[in-house]
Amino acid sequence: MFWQVIKLKIILLGAPGSGKGTQAGLLYEKLGIPHISTGEIFRNHIKNNTRLGQKAGEYMKAGQLVPDELTCEMLFERLEEEDCKNGFILDGFPRTINQAEALDRYFKEKGQEIDKVINIIVPDEEVIRRIGARRVCSNCSATYNLDYDKPADELCTVCRSPLIQRKDDSPEIVKARLVTYHEMTEPLIKYYKKSGKFVAVDGILGKWNVNKVIMRILG
Ligand code: AMP
Repeated sequence: MFWQVIKLKIILLGAPGSGKGTQAGLLYEKLGIPHISTGEIFRNHIKNNTRLGQKAGEYMKAGQLVPDELTCEMLFERLEEEDCKNGFILDGFPRTINQAEALDRYFKEKGQEIDKVINIIVPDEEVIRRIGARRVCSNCSATYNLDYDKPADELCTVCRSPLIQRKDDSPEIVKARLVTYHEMTEPLIKYYKKSGKFVAVDGILGKWNVNKVIMRILG
């Protein structure tokens, strides 16, 4: 049972490792709004060895962005699903100005708009530290951090499967992902500041404090 069901369309912006996924998960638990992670959808395609997964995997393992056209098509298809009709939390989309413009057009056609764009700010050194300690369940993709919430037996607390490091969380790829973030995604801050929906949150506060701030922003 969710605390309350609220209709909201939220974009979470921020560097890789800034806590977008964690916060989207908490918001889903509290508000019942689906958490849509384009990275996670791509990883599922890779797991299932689909054609999209094969294409996306090439970019992901180089720390680059999957081309806008493939990403937008996949995302807009997901947004048409029944569970998104009352809103959603976008984690990892948009990541380029092109994607943001495509999202604006998508909403305009439906006579809808985004409610809030929340940017989680974390310095690069902290991103590198956090991602270095990040582990995911090899089966259900639950995420852990070896510094904060390492399970005693290093097995997933949800399904008891071994934890692994995401391939694109290796130090060289993280560096490339940060370069991509600063070049391609950071310009979205300026883009959304103009919309009047933009709010920035200090991501260094720790997951529960960041969540409190976000809940306050969402009223
Ligand atoms: P994430 O799980 O959000 O860290 O995303 C992992 C990887 O998936 C990224 O480094 C990109 O290669 C790819 N990806 C996820 N979302 C997008 C997007 N919106 N546009 C392009 N590539 C993406």
